[in-house]
Amino acid sequence: MPITLALSKGRIFDDTLPLLASAGITVLDDPEKSRKLILATNRPDLRVVLVRASDVPTYVQYGGADLGVAGKDVLIEHGEDGLYQPLDLKIARCRMSVAVRADFDYASAVRQGSRIRVATKYTQIARQHFADKGVHVDLIKLYGSMELAPLTGLADAIVDLVSTGSTLKANNLVEVEHIMDISSRLVVNQAALKLRREPVRALIDVFAKAVS
Ligand code: ATP
Ligand code: MG
Repeated sequence: MPITLALSKGRIFDDTLPLLASAGITVLDDPEKSRKLILATNRPDLRVVLVRASDVPTYVQYGGADLGVAGKDVLIEHGEDGLYQPLDLKIARCRMSVAVRADFDYASAVRQGSRIRVATKYTQIARQHFADKGVHVDLIKLYGSMELAPLTGLADAIVDLVSTGSTLKANNLVEVEHIMDISSRLVVNQAALKLRREPVRALIDVFAKAVS
């Protein structure tokens, strides 16, 4: 069996390719042009599987893939137990932030100890953040388009990923708190690390050299 690397389509796939290329590894199919979910590389002992970003930790944890690349956001939300994270790949960088409508006085809502309705896909990160601050929140789980929640009255605030801030701006939202910086990590299956030590180590080294 070749070593299996789990990636998600889009920015993680696009930003991982150059790291592999620095060691002469190329992926032989283009996921934007093909419907294949298992992609061969120019190394017969390495293949790539395409999964949803939030499924990468699951594939790696249960051995569906030996290694994977996942955002820190996804790893925290999934739970990090049993996943070895040897490297910050410093790709897909962004930040997790709290944002509100420009006309919502977040600071005084916090000061007054009001209950704040917060819509987010990232409920673990949000729960921890507001607990650390001692702010009472009602969390509303969403799966996308968080920006819409404050505009429709669904929520007072959102917790979401921000990179340039242009999406927030376009929707008349402002960032009021920076929760944490986010980047993507290499994650490794613990059993693969022991049982397939040589090839797994070699691939970790490829990534380590590419990011240093
Ligand atoms: P899906 O689209 O399958 O629901 P997703 O939105 O998490 O999942 P992507 O949009 O490909 O998938 O994001 C993958 C990772 O890239 C995220 O987990 C996050 O770490 C990072 N990311 C998300 N948005 C941005 C952004 N605007 N700029 C930089 N990195 C980002
Ligand atoms: Mg996305």
